[in-house]
Amino acid sequence: MKKPNIVILGAGYGGMMTAVNLQKSLGVNEAHVTLVNKHSYHYQTTWLHENAAGTLHHDRTRIKINEVLNSGKVNFVQDTVVSIHPEEKKVKMANGDIEYDYLVIGLGFEAETFGISGLKEHAFTISSINSARLIRQHIEYNFAKYNNEREKNQERLNIVVGGAGFTGIEFVGELANRVPELCKEYDIPREQVRIINVEAAPTALPGFDPALVEYAMNSLEAKGVEFKIGAMIKEVTPNSLVFEKDEQREEIPTNTVVWAAGVRGNSIVEASGFETMRGRVKVREDMRTNEYDDVFIVGDSALIINEETDRPYPPTAQIAIQQAENVAHNLKTLVRGGKDLEGFTPKIQGTVASLGHDDAIGVVGSKKLFGWSASVMKKVIDNRYLLKLGGFGLLMKKGKFNIFH
Ligand code: FAD
Repeated sequence: MKKPNIVILGAGYGGMMTAVNLQKSLGVNEAHVTLVNKHSYHYQTTWLHENAAGTLHHDRTRIKINEVLNSGKVNFVQDTVVSIHPEEKKVKMANGDIEYDYLVIGLGFEAETFGISGLKEHAFTISSINSARLIRQHIEYNFAKYNNEREKNQERLNIVVGGAGFTGIEFVGELANRVPELCKEYDIPREQVRIINVEAAPTALPGFDPALVEYAMNSLEAKGVEFKIGAMIKEVTPNSLVFEKDEQREEIPTNTVVWAAGVRGNSIVEASGFETMRGRVKVREDMRTNEYDDVFIVGDSALIINEETDRPYPPTAQIAIQQAENVAHNLKTLVRGGKDLEGFTPKIQGTVASLGHDDAIGVVGSKKLFGWSASVMKKVIDNRYLLKLGGFGLLMKKGKFNIFH
């Protein structure tokens, strides 16, 4: 009998963990498994804010795919997906086509800019190793340039972060640690540098417990972060950001705007004709699309509804990893001729947001965590993923063990 071709698109949390789970559960003679990704490495998206701020080198965040996957069991193809053709069971890549019997789409997220003028053109986003490295270098270049100009240019030292959700807060937390180091390195007085967080909602960290939000804002303000809450960004230019708050317009001179206020599913999925909401495909309980029995979606490309709130679950790594286990299990069932696929329900174990290297807030189970203990919990979560992905060896190589930093 012909071995089925399983093709996985994207080596993020969803795609990578699907491949690792299949590698463990399927025999070599049961299926051909191929993983397609545009880079030779997998990266931990949840660490990118540290790379972007310059508090952690990006080589700690990325992991060579061939170091984790057994090439005898999973074939890795480094290529860029261009379009998906489910009627023909085919995927077009930059360097050729690939056919499948079963497809797993895990192409992740991209920034949603809501049509704000100039945002797409002039703001940075924290979305990949390349984009994080660019932000770090851009900030450092501006600090270096500052003392090389006759006219002191404040635009170089105002860093504006759009969005005080999870990513925005974690990023300003890292900046608050990094900026004093940069000031020392480039001979700039700390009080000259502004880190400004602009959020349209009436609170930072919408959806978090108010006591945790208060702790986070107080802690970050004490480290010099300024908050503009209830402030709508109206326009970004190469050297300014305009926002409106209480019907007043304000302009901040800056050439560093980092947009962390909205994500959508990868636009390739929508452009390939799948029915999407903000780029995410609403899936059946067993993680297959409504239209195709042979196409599964994992991670941020998938839209699943929380029955309790009747709203979509937010896109998170935690859910992507759990979905990957479910998808791999269902693929194993199909490959072995079974029909009873398992439904997926997320088991939310908790959420922890870092506020720099030694501070954090979060909820684990029903317990609220603040400060150092939350920060240790964050590292435990990060390390647990490494263990799941590549075992003890990978954990020792890439893990976070310094609980005081
Ligand atoms: P991704 O991790 O985005 O991976 C997609 C993969 O597809 C990438 O490897 C990419 O290179 C590849 N790819 C994309 N396009 C193509 C193409 N055309 N061809 C080939 N390959 C392609 N979630 C949490 O649960 N906890 C957290 O603490 C947390 N912190 C976060 C902090 C930051 C700074 C950010 C940005 C996000 C955070 N998230 C967190 C959200 C989490 O990172 C995402 O939900 C998660 O990364 C989604 O996983 P994914 O597998 O869908 O996609």
